Amino acid sequence: MAELLHDYFTENWRERVLACACGWQGDSRAMAMELHAEVTDYSCPSCGSLVLIVSHPTLEQVQSAAAAGHPEARQQLALLDEARSHLGQSSD
Ligand SMILES: [Zn+2]
Repeated sequence: MAELLHDYFTENWRERVLACACGWQGDSRAMAMELHAEVTDYSCPSCGSLVLIVSHPTLEQVQSAAAAGHPEARQQLALLDEARSHLGQSSD
């Protein structure tokens, strides 16, 4: 049964060791990653079962995590701001 992570900015989720039904254990970096529009799936490298599903952060989540000093959120926010300025939209 796959675990669903709603908050992308949860601390250390990449290092958390999860167990698969087949007996494999490991963290997200050892799993097979598949990127989708809304989520990223992590599958067991041994049997291919889905182990972890991570929701992509909303802009509001990025902004509040960045405001709280989360380094990755600050990076993402900087990229988003840059993308917006390239589109020529004012960020009021
Ligand atoms: Zn497995």
